[in-house]
Amino acid sequence: MRCKFCPSKPAIYMKEHRLALCSKHYVEWFERYVIRTIKEFRMFSKSDKILVAVSGGKDSLALWHLLRKNGYSADGLYIHLGIGEYSERSKEKVEAFAKRIGAQLRIVDLSEDLAGIPDLVKITSRSACSVCGMVKRYNFNKVAREGGYSVVATGHNLDDEASALLSNVINWNLKYLGKKAPVLEEEEGFVRKVKPLCKVTEKQTALYALLEGIDFIEEECPFSEDATSVFFKEILNQIEERFPGTKLRFYLDYLRKVMPLFEKEERDLTRCRICGEPSPTEVCGVCRLKDRLKEIAHVK
Ligand code: SF4
Ligand code: ZN
Ligand code: ZN
Repeated sequence: MRCKFCPSKPAIYMKEHRLALCSKHYVEWFERYVIRTIKEFRMFSKSDKILVAVSGGKDSLALWHLLRKNGYSADGLYIHLGIGEYSERSKEKVEAFAKRIGAQLRIVDLSEDLAGIPDLVKITSRSACSVCGMVKRYNFNKVAREGGYSVVATGHNLDDEASALLSNVINWNLKYLGKKAPVLEEEEGFVRKVKPLCKVTEKQTALYALLEGIDFIEEECPFSEDATSVFFKEILNQIEERFPGTKLRFYLDYLRKVMPLFEKEERDLTRCRICGEPSPTEVCGVCRLKDRLKEIAHVK
């Protein structure tokens, strides 16, 4: 087998696209494919000011790199979650990367204004990932709005999106099925959110990151033992092995055929009485956590 575009040995064969490519042509293909996705879903243009949520992992750093390399104006946002050594190491990776590409990096340290995820978990009944997700979403939005960014981009890939979809179909979670698009439009205090890597797999992104010499953190967050999502990713990979192309088709057909069947849910949003951020309740989740921390400090 040889690369589709030159006599070199392929670095990858993508069964779902029936495409074998050498390293050089793979990098070109990957960038073209992601940029086409950005255009297809009208995510943003070169005149937008983009904020990329970076964790130090391969997906978010690859996305940031790709956008800047291709002339998009993209700054990074790193949220220091206070998860011990893992957070320290991932912050170092992100800082080194930002320096290397000469990009602006914004950092929010949860311990300054709130508390790290391990301490927040102790004061709620929610799982670490659920608290973490809420706090991250709050900060992405706040930093983006205050910094004048028109869009927040995250590194979710096809495996993330398709496995979440499968899990929500199995559980008939209709609330999810109605709104998990690769673009969440701007609304009442919320900045638009997009997922430019939604059509490329974890493996494809990893190879791109490797070929582009991106130094990312390989270790997983110690809280990431979410067995359910790993399980659904494995199941999808098994199906993909047998029927190449299923993963992408499952996701794209959902977007094309299923999502439009749901009426757009009007969110009943108000502004948090304390911080002014958009919230479905009078006091937002983050301010409630802050209150709880104050109460505990007071009792002690
Ligand atoms: Fe946060 Fe969970 Fe991701 Fe860790 S695995 S960074 S706790 S969402
Ligand atoms: Zn080639
Ligand atoms: Zn609030």
